[in-house]
Amino acid sequence: MASSVAVLGSGILGSSTALFLARGGARVAVFDAAEAPFSRTSRWNEGKIHLGYLYSADTSLRSACGLIPGGLAFKRLTEELIGCPIDDLATPQNDTYLVHRDSVVPADEFAAYVERVADLVDSHPDAPDYFVDLTKVRPRTLGRDEIAADFESEIVVAGVRVPERSVSTVPVSERFVDALRAEARIQLVMGTRVTAVRLGGPSPSGPLLVETERGIEGPFDLVINALWEGRPAIDASFGILPCAAWTHRYRVSLFATTQDAVSIPSFVLVVGPFGDVKAYGPRDVYVSWYPAGLLIEGSRLAPPDVPALSEPARAAIVEATLDGITRAIPSLGALRDARPEIRLEGGWVYAIGEGSLADRHATLHRRDRIQVVREGSYISIDTGKYSIAPWLARRVADELLGR
Ligand SMILES: Cc1cc2nc3c(=O)[nH]c(=O)nc-3n(C[C@H](O)[C@H](O)[C@H](O)COP(=O)(O)OP(=O)(O)OC[C@H]3O[C@@H](n4cnc5c(N)ncnc54)[C@H](O)[C@@H]3O)c2cc1C
Repeated sequence: MASSVAVLGSGILGSSTALFLARGGARVAVFDAAEAPFSRTSRWNEGKIHLGYLYSADTSLRSACGLIPGGLAFKRLTEELIGCPIDDLATPQNDTYLVHRDSVVPADEFAAYVERVADLVDSHPDAPDYFVDLTKVRPRTLGRDEIAADFESEIVVAGVRVPERSVSTVPVSERFVDALRAEARIQLVMGTRVTAVRLGGPSPSGPLLVETERGIEGPFDLVINALWEGRPAIDASFGILPCAAWTHRYRVSLFATTQDAVSIPSFVLVVGPFGDVKAYGPRDVYVSWYPAGLLIEGSRLAPPDVPALSEPARAAIVEATLDGITRAIPSLGALRDARPEIRLEGGWVYAIGEGSLADRHATLHRRDRIQVVREGSYISIDTGKYSIAPWLARRVADELLGR
């Protein structure tokens, strides 16, 4: 095993990889442009621990098959990494998938897809390791009367309750940061933008140098690129390009903490550019409305600049998000009444894929090309999803540690 490793990026992927490697005996330097670990996309996302139900436009099931093992392993591996249980940080109820009248996948096809995914999930050997024992719970289709009672039936044409959970990403982040700081073999090199990775000598499998805005660091026996939105540009400095067309999208959502307890279900409107709500507990609620929260997208190696938002622009996004989602679920008006303190925060979605979510055939509806690329001592990992990061990190670390 290499004794000196540079991990680029301190989100969930870089941090998980650094922790596994350090605990396996390596000395690990973790570089990040942010001033503190876990302060970007891994801190501010919805935290759905995917079982594949979201990717019904990919009828090949390749996206679901790629996400299921990491989703099932998330709880076990995260608890190992941070050293404490996370049950209390997860949504306490099953998620409800609501089929929007403009869904790119018709309701009957969606229902059939859910059954196929449930078969894959509950026959997997790790099914009991999820937040609920998935060998014991099946999806349940909502009746017309249930839909009419809780949702706007002009907009919601069908619904299925599935045993999928989400975690509240802010407290998970804080526990990861504590674990990183407690690990003597990890050196955190924050506030340091990486600009390139170069060979340190003539051998392609030899030591590597990390170029940063502050100067050159290294040599390192291994460099692991876990930079998410920044990853393709650094890969390109090392001569590696994405395997197919890709997209960077910057999305903001509402992270609300209410003063009064509210009883709100977790649900997601599918399939297309809609939104979702996650209720992690009686006071912590996540709300997104895709048309309001998508600030910018691009398809170059480096992501476009995130537009600066004035206070009135932020307030307008908050209102448009609440309005968009409340049209489909009128009972969400309760969130406004519960005196919420709302933070508008966001992050990047990098994906191999392109097109519009309103187009069924857009490759953005797939997550089937999440890759780990290795060239000599350089390894580049596409996280793909928050939910699979600890599992990807474990695979990479086990291979490097010879396990
Ligand atoms: C609104 C939203 C909702 C989402 N919901 C879900 C969900 O429900 N479930 C799910 O599984 N996934 C979800 N995702 C995707 C998920 O958040 C990401 O896949 C995951 O957080 C990426 O983790 P990471 O460690 O790769 O990246 P990050 O957490 O972004 O970490 C990468 C780090 O690299 C640093 N960096 C980048 N470039 C450079 C550079 N050149 N030099 C130095 N540092 C650099 C950044 O500062 C950052 O700290 C969502 C994303 C968004 C935006």
